[in-house]
Amino acid sequence: MSVAVYERDTSSAIRTQGYRISLKDNGAKALHACLPTHLFDLAVATSIRSATRMVFMDTQLRPKFAKPIPPIEPGLAGFGVNRLTLREILLTGVEDIVHFGKTFDHYEELGDEGVRAHFADGSSVEGTLLVGADGTHSPVRRQLVPDAAVDNLGWAVYGKTPLTDDLLAATPDELIDTFNRVIAADGAAISIATCRTASPAPEPLTDIPGYLSWTMSAAGPPPGGPSPHELHELATATVVDWAPAVRRIVAEADVPATFLLAITSAQPVTPWQAPAVTLLGDAVHTMSPGRGDGANIALRDAQVLADLLPLGRSSAAAKAEYERQMLHYGFAAVAASREHPFAPFRPR
Ligand SMILES: Cc1cc2nc3c(=O)[nH]c(=O)nc-3n(C[C@H](O)[C@H](O)[C@H](O)COP(=O)(O)OP(=O)(O)OC[C@H]3O[C@@H](n4cnc5c(N)ncnc54)[C@H](O)[C@@H]3O)c2cc1C
Repeated sequence: MSVAVYERDTSSAIRTQGYRISLKDNGAKALHACLPTHLFDLAVATSIRSATRMVFMDTQLRPKFAKPIPPIEPGLAGFGVNRLTLREILLTGVEDIVHFGKTFDHYEELGDEGVRAHFADGSSVEGTLLVGADGTHSPVRRQLVPDAAVDNLGWAVYGKTPLTDDLLAATPDELIDTFNRVIAADGAAISIATCRTASPAPEPLTDIPGYLSWTMSAAGPPPGGPSPHELHELATATVVDWAPAVRRIVAEADVPATFLLAITSAQPVTPWQAPAVTLLGDAVHTMSPGRGDGANIALRDAQVLADLLPLGRSSAAAKAEYERQMLHYGFAAVAASREHPFAPFRPR
């Protein structure tokens, strides 16, 4: 099959905020099925050390609940990966088919001839099947299923703090290599994920020095249109009387890397009829990151679609079967993400 990818970012390195994606066994297996073995092995080799314990604490870091997380060997059972590293690995060997700086605008159905995609720069391209993998605010979905609705469940502030030797030595064990949550009586909370790889990423991958990725949510409406600096001030004010170790992590953050994240969740989408257009990933079933399923399900979509397309059937039959399966398991995952009791970003 001849394939082309059109991406609005101008390059793979455009988003510098590094946070991890945790792949479970379903996502890892889908990635393994979609990638040449050496690239899957590279993703495993550059994976982030996994958490060893789950610890929930009060703001003075007194544990309220703790349990060990059974160790898993990074691989098909799952692993964590830096987002930029995964992106660079996914791009390896397909550089010629990925066109950066191309913002999709709308499509035009051509009957038996397929579909034509139009871009913001006035250019267009024709193909047999258009796969909208354009994220939560998907313009492909907007045109394909205009009544599809996405709920806003809340918000969180994302921050990143470089993990220096000094900071590591000063940070209590409860906050390092754990799946943790520090919760205040008023519902404000912070989770701090240790993101460090076992060894540096080999050339030509970008090496990403260790960092702490923290997520803060608080009561009340989200701050409107804030700058990274204002978001960092909000986080600083929220933890002002919390344990010194938490205050220090927020204080030493890379302030420009702070950003506000809207937590969204798609309402079920009714099947669509367009014969040459489909959707994949967050574009159709965006969900709260509470259970860490979104990327796993997006990878599964890619595997299912790739498996079905070359069956020798018509692309329309493969597409219909893909949509039947994907809408079923995709929205089951959305429903689970709404119910998960440990969802770190539940609105309060
Ligand atoms: C903070 C956070 C943490 C998360 N952690 C996890 C986790 O641990 N595990 C997990 O499984 N999931 C996690 N998720 C969810 C996961 O990130 C998403 O489900 C996943 O990225 C979806 O992939 P996607 O390719 O469908 O969409 P995206 O990753 O959103 O990619 C869409 C792409 O389309 C491009 N695009 C958008 N509009 C256009 C346009 N008009 N023209 C051209 N290109 C366009 C975008 O630039 C982008 O590159 C997390 C999400 C967040 C926000």
